Amino acid sequence: MASMPPSPLIRKRLAILGSTGSVGSQTLAVVEALTRAGHAFSVVALAAGKNLELLAAQAQRFQPKLIAIERAKDLSKLRRLVGTFWSGEIVVGEEGLIAAATHPDADLIVNALVGALGLIPTLEALKAKKIVALANKESLVIGGHLVHGVQSKRSLIPIDSEHSALFQLMHSLHPSEIERIILTASGGPFRTRPLDSFAQITVAEALQHPTWQMGKRITIDSATLVNKAFEVIEAHWLFDLPYEKISVLIHPQSVVHGLVELTDGSILAHLSTTDMKLPIQYALTYPERVPSSVARLDLVKQKLEFAPVGRERYPAFWLVCEAGQRGGTFPAVANAADEVFVQRFLKNEIPFVGIARGIERVLAEHEGVPTPALEEILEADRWARQRASEFPPNSLS
Ligand code: MG
Repeated sequence: MASMPPSPLIRKRLAILGSTGSVGSQTLAVVEALTRAGHAFSVVALAAGKNLELLAAQAQRFQPKLIAIERAKDLSKLRRLVGTFWSGEIVVGEEGLIAAATHPDADLIVNALVGALGLIPTLEALKAKKIVALANKESLVIGGHLVHGVQSKRSLIPIDSEHSALFQLMHSLHPSEIERIILTASGGPFRTRPLDSFAQITVAEALQHPTWQMGKRITIDSATLVNKAFEVIEAHWLFDLPYEKISVLIHPQSVVHGLVELTDGSILAHLSTTDMKLPIQYALTYPERVPSSVARLDLVKQKLEFAPVGRERYPAFWLVCEAGQRGGTFPAVANAADEVFVQRFLKNEIPFVGIARGIERVLAEHEGVPTPALEEILEADRWARQRASEFPPNSLS
């Protein structure tokens, strides 16, 4: 076989928001790997919350010009930790996140923040004409229409594995060729558990995810499939597709990450091993594709199964999808209520089935705002959190 031409040298200047979290640290590991491969990636800004030790180590290693931290009271501790190894600018709070997201020297903003606080930096980065590599799902789940209003073509690159797969598949397609897209879901640990034993599900059982290693909330959201419903909402905004053209299939092996069914009946699929470094690297190098050290998929060992998402087994999935379709402030309410009920389940306050029941109750009480401004979204989020924390446990079992 003829040898491949050398990959083009890629030059990019990054701001990484949420740099000490799982996606943030993996992004920096990918930056190091790409640098070793001869590409020219620099980190001009880092933003992180409370993990000051890791942040200081990252500052020493990557020498950003700016660091954003959550709390003013951590300023002196961070200065002490970086000592003489780093002497850039530190900005605090929301102002810091915006400064990092709009830094004049950055061309690609990796938003790996967790939670609703990720929305404003996404909006500000897009307004400043930056490219945003998006791992913060709340940006699209709660603020989809606001992001949609300021994004331009290809200014948002998904990092979530399913959306990255679909983004890669749809890259060369014309919208008129697409019949529907299909996101896959592992189905979580309760895919085959008898329905009559759902009342006895324990926290430890719910935290056993079959294929991905993740944080606690997203692991529970994967067991209820609420995470997949959020991904449906994200896909709606990201790919500008009506909800009728987005479906979900349970695929226990997590080998196929996304499928696109075309109008002639052809189906395109994206397959890979489950490693977040792959979608992260693609987002960093896009529109180029370069070699990676990600484990190769052994097709001979694969068995591919697909099944529909049952309403009885996954009621919260359907509730959150419906909230997405209703739009306005409903997705923000679903997201906030889910977060509170997941926390209450993790504290053993409510049963596993109480998560869906609680989301249903809070959504039923909500009077939606059709095209909310940012403040109305944040207000709906606050209201839903308050309401979700008030339901007595016995009303949810
Ligand atoms: Mg995902």
